[in-house]
Amino acid sequence: MPKTIIEPFRIKSVEPIRWTTRAQREQLLAAAHYNMFLLPADDVLIDLLTDSGTGAMSTHQWAAIMEGDESYAGSRSFERFRRSVQDIFGYKHVIPTHQGRAAERILFGIACRKGMVVPNNTHFDTTRANVEFTGAEAVDLLTAEGRQPALAHPFKGNMDVTALEALIERVGREQVPLVMLTVTNNSGGGQPVAMENVRAVSAVCRRHGIPLYFDACRFAENAWFIRLREPGYEHKTPKEIAQEMFSYGDGCTMSAKKDGMANIGGFLCTNDDKLAQQEKDLLILTEGYPTYGGLAGRDLEAIAVGVQEALEEDYLRYRIASTAYLGNHIAAAGVPIVQPPGGHAIYLDARAFLPHIPVEQFPGVALAAELYLEGGVRSVEIGTLMFAGAAQMDLVRLAIPRRVYTQSHVDYLVEVILEVWKNRERIRGLRLTHEAPFLRHFTAHLEPVGGVVARPAGNTA
Ligand SMILES: *Cc1c(COP(=O)(O)O)cnc(C)c1O
Repeated sequence: MPKTIIEPFRIKSVEPIRWTTRAQREQLLAAAHYNMFLLPADDVLIDLLTDSGTGAMSTHQWAAIMEGDESYAGSRSFERFRRSVQDIFGYKHVIPTHQGRAAERILFGIACRKGMVVPNNTHFDTTRANVEFTGAEAVDLLTAEGRQPALAHPFKGNMDVTALEALIERVGREQVPLVMLTVTNNSGGGQPVAMENVRAVSAVCRRHGIPLYFDACRFAENAWFIRLREPGYEHKTPKEIAQEMFSYGDGCTMSAKKDGMANIGGFLCTNDDKLAQQEKDLLILTEGYPTYGGLAGRDLEAIAVGVQEALEEDYLRYRIASTAYLGNHIAAAGVPIVQPPGGHAIYLDARAFLPHIPVEQFPGVALAAELYLEGGVRSVEIGTLMFAGAAQMDLVRLAIPRRVYTQSHVDYLVEVILEVWKNRERIRGLRLTHEAPFLRHFTAHLEPVGGVVARPAGNTA
């Protein structure tokens, strides 16, 4: 069989993307105050801001959308959705929500109170915010390997089981309403959690009578990494691996905008009848009736098909290979990235990339700005602008939308990044000129320290 891994689809509908000149991009970036969130999407050539809700749907999903049953209660689409989710996740109650964070708000709103502690390998930002909103404390218990960007290790998303035991010991079992595992670990570089780690965490939870929940957004990518890297799983299907993983837990929250392969949606699952009743009561108050939960029937259909497609071997092989291709090609030229390449994104280590820019001058934002200037590529800083003094690293995330870009787009990205790498010493830091009191990265205004630097003539494309 030929070795080249190709996109396991052909293209039926195309969406044009628009070129701009470097001179135009300089103006556009200045008008956006050097903040990627303030750029109009039409002025971006390759958009790697996020993999959330940005994927392409399949012909099967579009066909299913036409079958959407928009009945308020008891719709056929909900039944399809419930059956499809249960087939993979196996939990008794499936509650649709409009996004992952709505599932989080309902779960934590019912399970958490002030003084409680929720352990996670790493809380995603909305997850942390929803835990903290209840007055509980969100604690990250990532293993030591997971905290070293340059270290290559197969399962850098694993939870530190000893630290979990110690935490439960310290605060008491009654103060831990649930333990959560994020698969894959988005905020920690898209790194997977091993089945062995899931089993160990589950055993600790069972021993203490604490429920285990998954933040399941990228469950299919995590299943593929287990198959590639964990002994004993090389002959299992991604679906069998996902089913086994979820069997060690008691429920999950899910954003269908990731491995649900849909543009909107999410869900909350649990095996606990009493909790499910409370969750449905709250759902009716804030999201909608339990057979639609803030979604249209057609959205439920798209998700029902999408969660199954996310587990297809040809898709996952291409998906993970494509992300790794980008990471490996730039790393081979010396570009510092979080190793090994994650499932949904490549993370550039901006402090190592731009050692001449002090952390107070936002090396991640400066690097993201230069990637846009060089090639019209939009990425996102995860560092000092996002987390201020709490930032332990300054990363630039290149998140890859699902089934959207082809191999030549990826080759183009490699070329752009290597050109920026070559000229890195010319990149200047930035300073803040405006910031909001919270979540400042979405709206901040910045400007180059010492003014805009002109590039040598002859490179205007
Ligand atoms: C995206 C995401 C969420 C939140 O989901 P939304 O659909 O954006 O609300 C929660 N956890 C993780 C790990 C995510 O990646």
